[in-house]
Amino acid sequence: MAIPKFKNEPPTDFTKPANRRAMEQALAKVKSSFGKEYPIVIGGEEIYATNKLNSYNPSRPSEVVGVFQKADEVLANKAIETAAAKFEEWRWVDPKKRADYLFKAARIMRKRKHEFSAVMVYEVGKTWPEADADTAESIDFLEFYAREMLRYAGPQPVTKIATEKNELVYIPLGVGVVVPPWNFALAILTGMSSAAIVTGNTVVLKPSSDSPMTGWMFFDLMREVGLPAGVLNFVPGSGAAVGDILVAHPKTRFVSFTGSKEVGIHINELAAKVQPGQKWLKRVVAEMGGKDAIVIDDQTDLEAAAQATIASAFGFQGQKCSAASRAIVVEKVYEKFLDVLKEKVEKIRVGMADEQANSMGPVVNEGSMHKILSYIEKGISEGGRLIAGGRRLEGEGYFIQPTIIADVHPKATIAQEEIFGPVLAVIKAKDFDEALQIANDTEFGLTGGVWTKNPKKKEKAKKVFHVGNFYINRKITGALVGVHPFGGFNMSGTDSKGGGRDYLLLLLQSKSLSEKIR
Ligand code: NDP
Repeated sequence: MAIPKFKNEPPTDFTKPANRRAMEQALAKVKSSFGKEYPIVIGGEEIYATNKLNSYNPSRPSEVVGVFQKADEVLANKAIETAAAKFEEWRWVDPKKRADYLFKAARIMRKRKHEFSAVMVYEVGKTWPEADADTAESIDFLEFYAREMLRYAGPQPVTKIATEKNELVYIPLGVGVVVPPWNFALAILTGMSSAAIVTGNTVVLKPSSDSPMTGWMFFDLMREVGLPAGVLNFVPGSGAAVGDILVAHPKTRFVSFTGSKEVGIHINELAAKVQPGQKWLKRVVAEMGGKDAIVIDDQTDLEAAAQATIASAFGFQGQKCSAASRAIVVEKVYEKFLDVLKEKVEKIRVGMADEQANSMGPVVNEGSMHKILSYIEKGISEGGRLIAGGRRLEGEGYFIQPTIIADVHPKATIAQEEIFGPVLAVIKAKDFDEALQIANDTEFGLTGGVWTKNPKKKEKAKKVFHVGNFYINRKITGALVGVHPFGGFNMSGTDSKGGGRDYLLLLLQSKSLSEKIR
């Protein structure tokens, strides 16, 4: 049967009572298994360790979503050895068969999508639509990378010569260590893991310590579709302890990492060191932080621009690598734009992520909350003018008001460092050209956008705004698989373009085959 063309999974319309009920049922189901314990799984063997890792609900931190095992050095080594042994079988499995596991997983995830979303509502504090979008993106990755593998498995163009039969084929690399973040707890984890699996590699998956339950959901789904034991190994544990062992192991062939700049740099350095017995240079695919900006020109619709800025800055509490953390506004409309922003931000309702009425939930954990609050203080102490928010909300959860700080100097700490929370720094620029210069003046280069009606300015911005994902007259978050291949420049990462046609190449090597025929 022909495989239909890839298309993105549509978002769920929660205004429909049936969808609302389905989500409520999924939330109840997930809640009913709070506190359950889940094993490490290596080569199909379920292992319970002495040290445990609790996953908490950031809306109500007294609730334990799940109890996980903390892998140690022995288990980390065992996981790599197991994956290395399994690679000797998995590498020869027909790519079509490998793709079928992903297609099957996509079908099941689609059927049970609210359950996957509900886990993220509880584990990382996503609101319903944000969790739904994360699950939809995960389904997209499975569907997209499965098709991509079929494309790479097909005949590849090489120049013909009369005397030889020549071919180029793509083969897998080996054992991949997959280290995802908690923020797209399902989508990034699914994307990085499924891409490695479908290309014929075996995987040691170390989920984020903030979202092991979501990682478990994916792992369990792959067991359900019959993925052979040992192809995907589930090894939660502390990044600093277990992560280093996995990355440094001589049998690790590549590392797929998404997370902060600091950890990305550390992994890159560690992976570069050749260990005794190691037969290759490791590949590192590292997608890291951002300091993403929206430039607001005077020739624009300020209402629409403010709406898009709010959505980009405060969606999922600003905890997206693509989130707008700087609005750079042309002098002429600066105060007017601030007024519109203020009016809109005050309408945002912050509260428990599982209550549908709330449009912002908590930030992910206590450490993160304190870090964000100290950035707010720093922003004000460095001369910023507090326009909205600035405080933690009463109660148990890690709730921070959506915060806008104006008159921020382009070199101020909050204009340069990634905060990863609901804080927008507003910077004044004399004109559009200066705004673009300010936008490029950080060490990052992930997403960015401009709001202008002027065609010349659009063209200039397309050329000079140095980011991996650039947007005009829309929000700067919400990249879609296949539509907006995603990845950044400079300290935002290796520009791997997840959800794009080049991505699987990073996990493959090509072999040139030549036979003399005349
Ligand atoms: P972190 O860098 O803190 O953690 C990411 C992952 O790395 C976690 O699984 C963590 O494990 C693990 N880790 C930590 N230390 C090590 C180590 N020494 N060796 C191996 N693994 C380690 O990032 P966050 O999870 O907080 O995610 C937020 C960050 O991710 C932001 O900077 C954001 O911009 C970035 N991001 C980038 C994206 C992009 O496409 N460019 C997309 C999404 C997020 P543990 O949890 O156990 O510490």
